[in-house]
Amino acid sequence: MLVLRNMQTREKSGLFQEDNKIFSDRFRQFFIGTIIAAIGGILNLILFGDQLFDSHNLLYFRLDFIAFIIGIVITAVLYSRLGQGQDNKVMTSFLWAWAIIMAFTTWFEGGLHSTLLLSFPILFIFAALFARKLAFLSICSFLSVVIIFMGVNHIYGWFPPPDGMLIEGVPRLISALVLSTLAGYICWIFGGLLRNSFDELKLENKRVLESQDTIRKLANCDALTGSLNRMGSESAYQDLLKGVDFKNESFVIYFIDLDNFKSINDLFDHHAGDQLLITISKRLAELVFNKGFVCRFGGDEFVLALPVQHGFDIEGFAVDIMKSLRKPHFTLVTEAKITASIGIMVANDGLLSFSDLCKKADMAMYQAKQAGKNNYHLYSDKLHREYMRNLTIVSSLESALSNNLLDVYFQPKINLQTNEIDSAEALIRWNRGNDNGIGPGEFIPIIESTELIHSIGSWVLSEACRACKAWRESGKVIKVAVNVSALQLTRSGFYQIVVDALEENDLPPGLLEIELTEYSLITEEPLVKKQLAALKKLGVVLAIDDFGTGYSNIAYLTQLKIDVLKLDRGLITQIDQLKDRRVVVNAVVKMAKELDMKVVAEGIETDAEREVIASLDCDYGQGYLWSTAVPSLEFIDLISKKADPTIALAKPVPA
Ligand code: C2E
Ligand code: MG
Ligand code: MG
Repeated sequence: MLVLRNMQTREKSGLFQEDNKIFSDRFRQFFIGTIIAAIGGILNLILFGDQLFDSHNLLYFRLDFIAFIIGIVITAVLYSRLGQGQDNKVMTSFLWAWAIIMAFTTWFEGGLHSTLLLSFPILFIFAALFARKLAFLSICSFLSVVIIFMGVNHIYGWFPPPDGMLIEGVPRLISALVLSTLAGYICWIFGGLLRNSFDELKLENKRVLESQDTIRKLANCDALTGSLNRMGSESAYQDLLKGVDFKNESFVIYFIDLDNFKSINDLFDHHAGDQLLITISKRLAELVFNKGFVCRFGGDEFVLALPVQHGFDIEGFAVDIMKSLRKPHFTLVTEAKITASIGIMVANDGLLSFSDLCKKADMAMYQAKQAGKNNYHLYSDKLHREYMRNLTIVSSLESALSNNLLDVYFQPKINLQTNEIDSAEALIRWNRGNDNGIGPGEFIPIIESTELIHSIGSWVLSEACRACKAWRESGKVIKVAVNVSALQLTRSGFYQIVVDALEENDLPPGLLEIELTEYSLITEEPLVKKQLAALKKLGVVLAIDDFGTGYSNIAYLTQLKIDVLKLDRGLITQIDQLKDRRVVVNAVVKMAKELDMKVVAEGIETDAEREVIASLDCDYGQGYLWSTAVPSLEFIDLISKKADPTIALAKPVPA
């Protein structure tokens, strides 16, 4: 562009640019050269031109001598005008002045025989190079006419030059030498100018190539990490594909999504997040070496693509990636640890585009996230179908939430000593517009890898608090327990959402219980721990849900001062018949008592189960024996009835 613009400017003004200092300087040199040459001519006449003082000559005082002096004066005057933005006019005047002087002096000194004729080509070249079109044409025409005139004049002898004016001998030699030197000098000066212009042009060209290279890099590379971006990857993939022999090789795409990267940004700052992304990109580049390429696909998503020989340990490589990313990262602020979920797509032909391969690997990654993160998953057609189904579920749920098609039901928790309702667990229900009858046990894990878990989670929380307020207003102070996904705790605003829900409904924090999955405890995420500690400090009751199904970190139970353990239904069902379960529950209850925790047994369906649970000193029971989850208004009716251990409060209908 720059070159083009400059070329256009040159085209308009010609090589001769009025405001160009370099040209003005060169013209000055040339003017000085001309003056020196003219002085040389004069000295030549004085020193060697004997005829000058020949008394027989009518033109005693030689006119060519005078002409040169006039030329010198004019040149000196014009010299002083150079560099004032009028160089064009100055140059035209100079050329005309010397064209006339040289026409006269050449005729005067013998016409076509004169060595001064050598000045004509100099003027021609000069006018061609630096004069505007009109000046060039007129000067050339004039000089051509002069040459023709001198030729014809010579033949016919119309206006013969004065006798004896033709310089011979040494002065002729000097004159030829001076003019040739002047011509050489001019060529040297303007040759330098042209060389400079070429150098400038070359430099500009280099700059343009460099900027084209930068633009290409910017378009193909990620500005932060320097890895390829999506656009760059598509062509890198096509390049690599050319060398892949699908008879013996496959092309593997590892779609890497960092787990809970947002919390790093939330907890530290974006600069630390950026640092982390840079080191991650470097580690991935080291892994792929020069066999494939690394692409930063978006925010915290990377793609590692490489062709591999059949038999290559594809899953082992995914493990290597995970290991490499798990190593501590030293950001500016602190040491950060991060895990990643990886989706793997193996292409056995080159039919799909890079973005299609990535879509499939992304689906597999989604599956890895759902399986609890810090995991990898291989793409398969079955996975594709599941993925599509999940997508439909997520979008249907999204519209269900915005169209008020979701409900929150409440299931009572019974105090096993008093048989009274102690609290209620809020459970989401999707009864309307849910053609497939999908329950929360299925859809909650699906939305846990999407934004929806945050909006639905907040909505359930505020509905639960609203219901608790309504029960309170009807005269029953009953605690409400809300299930909170670990994902919700990875958002820095969660604590405030809880505070707002409590304040809006004028509830003391002790009336709210938060049911956490064991994952919330085992996660290394500092933000989760920080928010749990803050909630605990606020006075909110913390419970561990489904205890006994995962790998609870007992240390965290004490660190966070968990208030309630909810034994999973798996431990309770048929406890009256299975001794092993009784032993486990007995041990857990004892441990909980030691740690000052209350214990809730989930999923009590029979009176026999209730009896055993009660005999094991468990504090609370929850299950279909008393009631399924019911709407808030119905729950008020339940509260009014005394929980009878033998009579179910509501007809047990599976949720
Ligand atoms: P959970 O928190 O362990 O809830 C208890 C589940 O057991 C509920 O299923 C409840 O209806 C069921 N249940 C209670 N008593 C019995 C019984 O005696 N027998 C049997 N067979 N089942 C019983 P639900 O409502 O389908 O919820 C399933 C899971 O979905 C919940 O397990 C919880 O993890 C999740 N969930 C439900 N609502 C929410 C919510 O609002 N937010 C989050 N994050 N998760 C929720
Ligand atoms: Mg629960
Ligand atoms: Mg549970």
